[in-house]
Amino acid sequence: MIPTRSGIREVLAPVGGFGVTFSNMFRPVITEQYPYEKVPPQPRYHGRHQLNRYPDGLEKCIGCELCAWACPADAIYVEGADNSPGVQMSPGERYGRVYQINYLRCIFCGLCIEACPTRALTMTNEFELAGPTREGLIFEKKDLLAPMLDGMLAAPHPMAPGATDTEYYRGEITGPAPAQVEWVAEHRPDDPTLPGAERAAERLAHAHNPENR
Ligand code: SF4
Ligand code: SF4
Repeated sequence: MIPTRSGIREVLAPVGGFGVTFSNMFRPVITEQYPYEKVPPQPRYHGRHQLNRYPDGLEKCIGCELCAWACPADAIYVEGADNSPGVQMSPGERYGRVYQINYLRCIFCGLCIEACPTRALTMTNEFELAGPTREGLIFEKKDLLAPMLDGMLAAPHPMAPGATDTEYYRGEITGPAPAQVEWVAEHRPDDPTLPGAERAAERLAHAHNPENR
């Protein structure tokens, strides 16, 4: 009996599988010395989330809950609240008062960051997310908020004078304005972000002065 082509393929299939094994046997062995030497992940790796801020220090999260609705693992919990003149945490009417991500549930799919309308939520490259307790893996808003960069003014404080939330979304607010700095100086004179914000506001005012162009 003459073996058919499909019969030969069936006989050779297991040998083909071993081909992958054999070709790898002669390659140099790479052993990563984690955690002593950490190999940075790819730039677009999906790691721990971050809640971002605008350059003047206001939070980008508007508490809309779209991220929570998009999450297939039900890992996000958000409670929004109204901004008020005394407690303006983000541009516009609402801010995220409570924000939690449960890393025991999260599968790092990134659907939440796709759903966020203000780019408040993004993902960092941080992948070391282990801990001894279940409670410790529920990250709160304070654990997720981006660090204050030099020149940012800690919220709450009013929006930039005359600015709309659309101008914030478009990236037209590039730092704190003198009026915002004055408001914080009056209400929280000991705020540690004041000196840096004051310098940033002066630099911006100088750059936007037509006489200096
Ligand atoms: S990355 Fe995916 S699973 Fe994790 S919180 Fe976002 S949507 Fe949910
Ligand atoms: S992170 Fe984005 S999607 Fe989630 S509540 Fe805040 S603004 Fe809405």
